Amino acid sequence: MQPLADLEIGVMFWAGRDPLATVREIKSFGVRSGQLGIAGDTPLAGAAAAWRSALQSEEFTLVTAFCAYIGEDYADIPTVQRTVGFIPPATREEREQRTYEVSGFAAELGVPGVACHIGFVPEDKNAADYVAVRAMVRRVCDYCARHNQTFALETGQEPAGVLLNFLRDVERPNLKINFDPANMILYGTGDPIEAVGMLAGELVSVHCKDGDWPPMGVPGALGAERPLGAGSVGMANFIATLKEIGYRGTLNIEREGQSPEQWRQDVRMAVDLLKRLR
Ligand code: MG
Repeated sequence: MQPLADLEIGVMFWAGRDPLATVREIKSFGVRSGQLGIAGDTPLAGAAAAWRSALQSEEFTLVTAFCAYIGEDYADIPTVQRTVGFIPPATREEREQRTYEVSGFAAELGVPGVACHIGFVPEDKNAADYVAVRAMVRRVCDYCARHNQTFALETGQEPAGVLLNFLRDVERPNLKINFDPANMILYGTGDPIEAVGMLAGELVSVHCKDGDWPPMGVPGALGAERPLGAGSVGMANFIATLKEIGYRGTLNIEREGQSPEQWRQDVRMAVDLLKRLR
């Protein structure tokens, strides 16, 4: 696949429809790279050939395969804690196997990175969930390393310091961070610009997403996602900070929970905004 420019604009989009039509639609936004989200129930057996051929013929580069899992629910913070990522014990084994499947699929497409939300990392290093998830992340990293892939943790569900401590504790060189500035705000976990600085050396990819802080006086509520530039991240400051820390990866526009029409409109606007800012 073709080399990408520093801070090249890309789009986060989802598998599940015809690969060629999907890639062409994403290219119609004027980009040639992105991240492919893979829902837990998207069948992957036999799917790689059509994706590989679509990516090659359209000269489109995927930088990350993003895993989501069956049973995840982002309704509010307690629901996220109960259902998302590697933390819930009941689904841990099945999600580990699924992550391996996604890594293998991504390897067939030449994708250099796998990522997911692992869920809320506990602060207590001696907690049973912490120990089990650390062991699981080590196994996932080692599996991805066999494919020369990084494995990236999505930010937001814990403060940057907790994430950084966990990352160091796992001790795997291919463990990285997919930084999502909006998540820090939506979950109320800290100022994203400060967090970029703290996590600077560990970023392999970023989401360009925006949002507002959780409403006051509603325990457990998440903030609301907003179109890029309309939320509380401060996109100009975010992009400037990425440059300052020497980040050279892609800028992946992420927009969630919209009708297809609204999604397209918001992505187009986000591409225009990032062109002006980068
Ligand atoms: Mg994100």
